[in-house]
Amino acid sequence: MSSQISIAVVGSGYVGLVAAACFAEIGHKVTCVDNDESKVAMLQAGGVPIHEDYLPELLERHRGKNILFTSDLGRATREAQLVFIAVGTPQSRTGSADLSYVDAVASEIARSIDTYTVIVEKSTVPVYTNEWIRRVVERNGVAKDMFDVASNPEFLREGTAVVDFLHADRVVIGADSERAAALLQKVYEPLTSGEYFRSASAIPGTRTPEAAVPILQTSTKAAELIKHASNAFLAMKISFINVVANICEAVGADVQQVAQGMGTDTRIGPRFLSAGIGYGGSCFPKDVAAFRYVAEQLGLDFDLLAEVEKINAEQKKRFFQKIRSALWTFRGKRIGVLGLAFKGGTDDIRDSPALDIVRQLLHEGCTVAAYDPAAMERTAELLPASGQMSYVDDAYAAAQDADALLILTDWQEFAELDLARLHYTLRYPIVIDGRNLYSPAQMRQSGFTYLSVGRPDAY
Ligand code: NAD
Repeated sequence: MSSQISIAVVGSGYVGLVAAACFAEIGHKVTCVDNDESKVAMLQAGGVPIHEDYLPELLERHRGKNILFTSDLGRATREAQLVFIAVGTPQSRTGSADLSYVDAVASEIARSIDTYTVIVEKSTVPVYTNEWIRRVVERNGVAKDMFDVASNPEFLREGTAVVDFLHADRVVIGADSERAAALLQKVYEPLTSGEYFRSASAIPGTRTPEAAVPILQTSTKAAELIKHASNAFLAMKISFINVVANICEAVGADVQQVAQGMGTDTRIGPRFLSAGIGYGGSCFPKDVAAFRYVAEQLGLDFDLLAEVEKINAEQKKRFFQKIRSALWTFRGKRIGVLGLAFKGGTDDIRDSPALDIVRQLLHEGCTVAAYDPAAMERTAELLPASGQMSYVDDAYAAAQDADALLILTDWQEFAELDLARLHYTLRYPIVIDGRNLYSPAQMRQSGFTYLSVGRPDAY
């Protein structure tokens, strides 16, 4: 049996809360810290502030036993062998990562260290951040041998975060001290030894006791770079296929056929080759910008990433033009919108391309009826319901009497609509699909005008 380790996780957002719940699930004693008192109160009372599969079950399983919630970072630090920093690292005005939350947390941790502690960067941070954290901690009077700073970047995807965490492709441990590396390895041992996957109550996924999670040990700097380079590369893949999609549109080819042909080459791989309305979310936009900034600071030319960003911005504009080309004029038209989250499976709307499109529609004078299985509450905080903007209960209510229906998020349920019902619900049977969830042939047969991305239009 692996040994129980006491862990503090600072920041109870998409990464921190999931990591904390999963650490508890693999047997550790976890204190989950946040400075948002209302979030802490909600978690203590049994609430779950974000939408993630399996998260409510895990919290229910471990609340009050292996996992506690608090806003008292000092106490959590004193009781922990490792403190994971999982606070936000948003984009600053210059494009660089704003590390002020990390800085604040590092100082607070430093003031409470009274025994050897490993401070672990879980947030996505630029290379050298570990050095800065080290300096901050030392400046606060902590002796060098009382702490180490390590990097353990997180690769979970919102929507499948718990499964991604427990059945990870790999765990990256970046540490320049053997002591810190050994402790981090112990934390992940239930996953890397396969022990967790033997448990009858284990959350199901791809990993098994025989094929457990591999571990990759690197220097701290390399681990920091792995995360930025990975996100920048994935964003590049998306922008690449989006330009290919635009070429397909120009010549009348189908981008899905092209992507399949490319993706079956094992050197390329099939994932992140879905053409659409551009990437969004709380990670890719800021991480591409931050990585570009890192290169710039080092005097290195990484204009490739500037191009990735430019293509992404263009892609959103192109999609809006597509809507215009189907509707001719906007003022007074009623548009049904399916999807507000930046991707399916999550309630996260940060930098969601869907929201950009809804805002533009409202600006052009349309009336919007929107439906999203998880993200309506958050969206309504930014775009309150009004005469022009309404939130409805299902996809058919969004389509009701609409001049066109837009699909903006790849929720599975949007790929399984009753097309006959949709056809008679819409005022005009026009579907503009930014996620390529249907085949043009099927939509043509069902009597729709169907516009998608990188594929021939169907009339
Ligand atoms: P989030 O905004 O959902 O959560 C951050 C939490 O930190 C919030 O609850 C906030 O109240 C809390 N916080 C801020 N300052 C604090 C302080 N001083 N003390 C205690 N709590 C504090 O952010 P997130 O999406 O979980 O992302 C966190 C980090 O992980 C970012 O660096 C992000 O780039 C990275 N990351 C995110 C994802 C993802 O899919 N969301 C995936 C991998 C990595």
